[in-house]
Amino acid sequence: MSWFRRLFGPSTPQTARPPRRKVFAIQRDALDLIMEASKAEHPREFGATLRAERGVITEVVLTPGTIAGDRHTFINYHLLPIDPSIVGTVHSHPSPWAHPSDADKQVFSSFGHTHIIIAHPYDDDSWIAYDTRGDRIELEVVD
Ligand code: ZN
Repeated sequence: MSWFRRLFGPSTPQTARPPRRKVFAIQRDALDLIMEASKAEHPREFGATLRAERGVITEVVLTPGTIAGDRHTFINYHLLPIDPSIVGTVHSHPSPWAHPSDADKQVFSSFGHTHIIIAHPYDDDSWIAYDTRGDRIELEVVD
């Protein structure tokens, strides 16, 4: 956000609805899989990439470059195939806080545009989605 917008707010009227994001929803199945995988890896972190179709995240893609460590999940993005259906990343935090670390923000800004962090206890209320800037976004859960 520029200093101008920070000081004076968005230039569009408050009544204007933001345009729908490229990715605006996640399928229930994919979210369940994220919860299950995060529980299975606990207290280590789980990490993967996300695939979307027509604006809906449909698939959690485990990549060969993913290393779940005790302290943090590293995904070797250079090993990822160039695949436009991959829209971002998901990883778990074994803590109760689903807020991005500086390292997370670095990843968010360099790979994809839709990211999820799910915190312990890995349920419907413990995940947050973020955009490239690490700002919170809303993702609908659809069947
Ligand atoms: Zn993190």
